[in-house]
Amino acid sequence: MSLIVHKYGGTSMGSTDRIKNVAKRVAKWSRAGYQMVVVPSAMSGETNRLLGLAKELAPTSANLAYQRELDMLASTGEQASSALLAIALQAEGVESVSYAGWQLPIRTNSAFTKARIESIEDQRVMADLAKGKVVIITGFQGVDEHSNITTLGRGGSDTSAVAIAAALKASECLIYTDVDGVYTTDPRVVPEAKRLLTISFEEMLEMASMGSKVLQIRSVEFAGKYKVPLRVLSSFTPWDIDLKEEASSGTLISFEEDEKMEQAIVSGIAFNRDEAKISVIGVPDKPGIAYQILGAVAQANIEVDMIIQNLSKDGKTDFSFTVHRNDHAKTLDLLKNQVVPELGAAEVVGDTKICKVSIVGIGMRSHVGVASKMFKTLSEEGINIQMISTSEIKTSVVIDEKYMELAVRALHKTFDLDQDKA
Ligand code: ADP
Ligand code: ASP
Ligand code: MG
Repeated sequence: MSLIVHKYGGTSMGSTDRIKNVAKRVAKWSRAGYQMVVVPSAMSGETNRLLGLAKELAPTSANLAYQRELDMLASTGEQASSALLAIALQAEGVESVSYAGWQLPIRTNSAFTKARIESIEDQRVMADLAKGKVVIITGFQGVDEHSNITTLGRGGSDTSAVAIAAALKASECLIYTDVDGVYTTDPRVVPEAKRLLTISFEEMLEMASMGSKVLQIRSVEFAGKYKVPLRVLSSFTPWDIDLKEEASSGTLISFEEDEKMEQAIVSGIAFNRDEAKISVIGVPDKPGIAYQILGAVAQANIEVDMIIQNLSKDGKTDFSFTVHRNDHAKTLDLLKNQVVPELGAAEVVGDTKICKVSIVGIGMRSHVGVASKMFKTLSEEGINIQMISTSEIKTSVVIDEKYMELAVRALHKTFDLDQDKA
């Protein structure tokens, strides 16, 4: 009997009616003979509500004690929705039991609010499955070696589901969400976006890491590492549609690079408003400056994304990089108080009103001129490019945030992504 993992996102779990609908769908799969493990997110808005309450009491702080409590707090959203789903399944006449991450346990490191899964104990789950029960496991959370509850970062239930699927050697992991698959770009921003029947694992990895929030990046990494067959599909189809039809709907994350995929030069466009730019101006241009600036930033546990160093003029240069917006103030403080005086730089300035737009496609490997086509489109729209970075299968630019939608729409058109694929 094959084991299947379903994951339901916040909107799909957003009300008791929707939870009933999820229960009916899962019951259908269970009655069809599949061993079922279900990973729910918190009901939509719940994680934000909880974190908002914390903020009302004390401003967000990097303090470890505060971060620990955020995880203790945020993890309750998934605990509630998991129990509600178990109750709904029992009401459907399906034996079901829910577990919080710590009860299995799902072990993680201790990086509160962005913990990484280290191992998953499967004994309890396997025993329940053998008894014919549907097992529900909270998404988004685990437990560290000191028995502290941890969470996996926003959108982390995707990662829980794929990691659980890998640990249980499930035959497939189905991510049910509020769109019916992975699109050429966010369909809420570009209504002309088209659903992809398949997307290569590598492209999905780039799309997720460049800001496409349909899957959390870590979930795609897990799928790649453990070769978990992964599909994104809608939870809003009628629960009683034919199971085979449902099982082949949505978008498959494919590990094979077939010829058809090679034909699309650009498969998708991702964008990300979560970054901020920091520029250190007038740095004496001598060996070691990148290390002095970025070494201090890394030591403060701040992740850096794009980096650019200008040509030097009169022995001085400017050095810019991007960090997560949440780290913007911390990075500025660090540089102003410590690094800039040591370096003898003129000043440090920050800009939170930026966004990163990326074109992604494995076809870029075998085609030249793709990046220049992107730059041409942006210049025709009068959009200034502040930073550029490339990899084998993507080109990203940082632009002013106010041009984000315009840029994404124009690029979507330029690369023919609004045309129906044959
Ligand atoms: P869930 O709560 O189910 O995890 P998310 O909100 O995390 O759902 O992810 C689904 C959302 O991702 C969609 O509603 C859509 O707005 C957004 N999205 C961004 N990029 C894409 C894309 N390329 N294809 C589909 N959806 C996308
Ligand atoms: N509830 C968590 C969040 O809102 C995790 C998830 O939904 O995947 O980020
Ligand atoms: Mg999500």
